[in-house]
Amino acid sequence: MSNTEPGFTVIDKRGTNRAEETAVVIEPDAPKTGKRSWKGAVEYLSIPKPTPTGMLMAVQAVGLRDDGSLFTADYILPPILPKNFDWKSVVTKRIDSYLACDCSREIGTCGMHQQYERQWMEQDAQRLNMFASQPVPECIEVMVNLQRQKQPKVVLAKGPLPPKK
Ligand SMILES: [Zn+2]
Repeated sequence: MSNTEPGFTVIDKRGTNRAEETAVVIEPDAPKTGKRSWKGAVEYLSIPKPTPTGMLMAVQAVGLRDDGSLFTADYILPPILPKNFDWKSVVTKRIDSYLACDCSREIGTCGMHQQYERQWMEQDAQRLNMFASQPVPECIEVMVNLQRQKQPKVVLAKGPLPPKK
């Protein structure tokens, strides 16, 4: 499996489409051969996740390893989902890396995953920054403007505040 995300199309300010040639490296090479397996299937949840830019949605893979250890792996979703967006293979690759490592309830997080987990956060942040730098599609812009107009105006209280009890 490739360790890069496919390049995506950037629409520059002149409105010209150009393929972005610099694909983002998203995952370190995880060991291919898992020593272990999942009990049952890996499940996927959508969860709110705090990020430096506020609360965003993330996909969380949840798996129970055959030794009874529980693992989760998150992947932060950009607010506007790119076309052909394959979150599942990325987050599955992340959680599957726990099948071939020394993480355990006794040891805790292994050295490899201390490194990976930091890289995953950096990679998600890098991806979000890149999406944020792209122009907002017109339909989204129109929708956001309409929503703003519907928001109730802030009314400031007039007169003295009620006495404290
Ligand atoms: Zn590990």
